[in-house]
Amino acid sequence: MYAGLRPIVVEGATGLYNTNYEGKAQAAIDALRTDDFVYLHIEASDEAGHEGDVALKVKTIEYLDSRVVKPIFEEVSKWDEPVTIAVLPDHPTPCSIRTHTAAPVPFIIYRPEQQPDAVLIYDEFEAQKGSYGMLQSQQFMQMLLS
Ligand SMILES: [Zn+2]
Repeated sequence: MYAGLRPIVVEGATGLYNTNYEGKAQAAIDALRTDDFVYLHIEASDEAGHEGDVALKVKTIEYLDSRVVKPIFEEVSKWDEPVTIAVLPDHPTPCSIRTHTAAPVPFIIYRPEQQPDAVLIYDEFEAQKGSYGMLQSQQFMQMLLS
């Protein structure tokens, strides 16, 4: 809200692993029809990290992939106006220590008109080989919005 973004309430959004993934994805798609920028936050993986539950964390990441990123990507891919999509965590929450760290996070910036780099796996190790290299937060936002 400090950034001037319009809050969107999604019924069933819990901030936990059982959040309404499909509802949040649909709300993002709906907002993208009218708004230039949509920030969609899924807290589930962070909470699983705090619980130290590796299996739950993997499941929440799979849910994020299949129930949020996939439907948004598939929908906006049909649109005439290109939509840039970034996927990233706001910070790591390793299950091993059950709290946040300041370690770098992997990110994807997808642009329909841009050729991808050679990285095919999304994780902390492969992302280091990506064409963007290591970006600080402001550099990331400048790159995303450029
Ligand atoms: Zn947290």
